[in-house]
Amino acid sequence: MDQKVDLLSIVVPVYNEEQNILFLRDKLFELIGSLDCGCELIFVNDGSSDNSFEVIAGLVKSDRRIKLLNLSRNFGQQAALTAGMDYSKGDVIITMDCDLQDPPELIPELIKKWREGAKVVFARRRLRKEGFMKVVTARIFYSLMKRYSDLKITGDIGDFRLVDRKVLDSLNNMREKSRYLRGMVAWLGFNYAIVDFDRPERIHGKSGYDYFKMARLAMDGVVSFSSLPLRMGLVIGTICIVSGFSFLVYICGDSILNHVVYPLYKWLVIALFMLIGFLFILIWIVAEYIRRIYDESKGRPIYVVQGTENL
Ligand code: UDP
Ligand code: MG
Repeated sequence: MDQKVDLLSIVVPVYNEEQNILFLRDKLFELIGSLDCGCELIFVNDGSSDNSFEVIAGLVKSDRRIKLLNLSRNFGQQAALTAGMDYSKGDVIITMDCDLQDPPELIPELIKKWREGAKVVFARRRLRKEGFMKVVTARIFYSLMKRYSDLKITGDIGDFRLVDRKVLDSLNNMREKSRYLRGMVAWLGFNYAIVDFDRPERIHGKSGYDYFKMARLAMDGVVSFSSLPLRMGLVIGTICIVSGFSFLVYICGDSILNHVVYPLYKWLVIALFMLIGFLFILIWIVAEYIRRIYDESKGRPIYVVQGTENL
């Protein structure tokens, strides 16, 4: 299978990246020149408070391949990516950061995997040259997600990836508001490939992700793709009931066999223990209902077709 890319869309969310935009554009066009394919470069200005808008607006005038989508305020990277993908027309779509932490040099490799038949190509970070806290929190988060979430694609995968038009059309049908795109793409299935890379440091500016935004993204990922928090009620409830019941057996045995007299409050404590256990179980059951309501309200497709034969 050796297909040609007719139009390559590159979607870049921009939040206070005035120093990086020109640099990224130069690198991208230099690369694309050697790729022999049409290209559109979509910058999504996510409510930057610096001169990013002016810089892109300047570029747009001189090059029709560069497009600008200006959001009314800061909606966050995931929303910005969604907006950019909604407007992209390419048959292959690449999303990447503006700060050159997603090295453009990897693009030919992503496209190569696509040519070989992968409908999605994830770029996976092998190593991070970033602050200690960022590396540690990312490590913990991704290893927990690997163990406890429904996502089977593992490792430190961000939003640097290539998707085929077909995948994007399916993704665009998923209009849920809390978006964890890397998870949603993985959820869709399709043949995928992974390319590993070393994530370099940010050259200019500073990360648009503070701890609050990072925690929110992590929460979106966990809530949407893991049932562990939900099952916590079941686990705690079961522990309470089982241990309460063992205490009960113990003091029953003790008072019958050894004629020890237990004061009323001790019996009541055990009763309370078990009652709390039942409460936790009840919470878990309610949570299961809520999860179903949540699933329904997301309105995701019931299935996704990758291809058909004779149909
Ligand atoms: N970004 C955005 N909106 C935000 C925060 C970030 O569009 O609210 C963009 C940012 O311009 C960059 C990408 O998302 O292109 C990744 O952000 P950043 O480099 O700050 O994240 P980090 O690499 O620190 O995880
Ligand atoms: Mg970055």
